[in-house]
Amino acid sequence: MRVVIVGGGHAGGAAAIALRDLSFGGEVTIVGEEPDPPYERPALSKELLTGAAAAPPPVCPDWTARGVTLRPGRRATALDRRNRMVALDDGAALPFDHLILATGGRPRRLSFPRIPASSPCATRPTRGPSVPRPSKRVARWSSAAG
Ligand SMILES: Cc1cc2nc3c(=O)[nH]c(=O)nc-3n(C[C@H](O)[C@H](O)[C@H](O)COP(=O)(O)OP(=O)(O)OC[C@H]3O[C@@H](n4cnc5c(N)ncnc54)[C@H](O)[C@@H]3O)c2cc1C
Repeated sequence: MRVVIVGGGHAGGAAAIALRDLSFGGEVTIVGEEPDPPYERPALSKELLTGAAAAPPPVCPDWTARGVTLRPGRRATALDRRNRMVALDDGAALPFDHLILATGGRPRRLSFPRIPASSPCATRPTRGPSVPRPSKRVARWSSAAG
């Protein structure tokens, strides 16, 4: 029995851990677009965002010990439901018996004008396990918000 999980965020990682905790003995593969293996997201707090507290080191489950195969840095590009295959952006095709889609969500962009970078509401996008470092402007705004 082969389970393929598309998406290596919190939901994808938790699904793989839950399968093993429930004694699932088949193949488990996580396909994740991010370059890092799935890791436990650190609890974000105001102290962390303002720099008052140090970022905890990212906690990465031992995927090898759990017998989970990782495909980091790979994007699933197509799903063939009839033949139970997922196509990846490197040309590989992964067969599955069960598929878990854990691809998260995307914010719906509204038709407002863009927020200028000089605005206190502007933030920078981040990727990977490092905790985002907000701009000083946002840090000041967060402190002021109490
Ligand atoms: C550093 C950090 C700290 C956080 N701290 C908190 C916190 O304190 N409190 C809190 O409530 N939340 C926190 N979050 C947010 C939370 O952990 C999750 O983002 C949220 O629960 C959603 O998880 P998800 O797995 O459903 O989606 P996502 O986190 O969006 O994960 C989806 C994953 O799927 C991948 N993906 C999408 N499409 C494809 C595709 N076609 N092929 C392959 N991969 C694909 C994406 O790259 C992404 O890695 C934090 C997030 C981060 C990054």
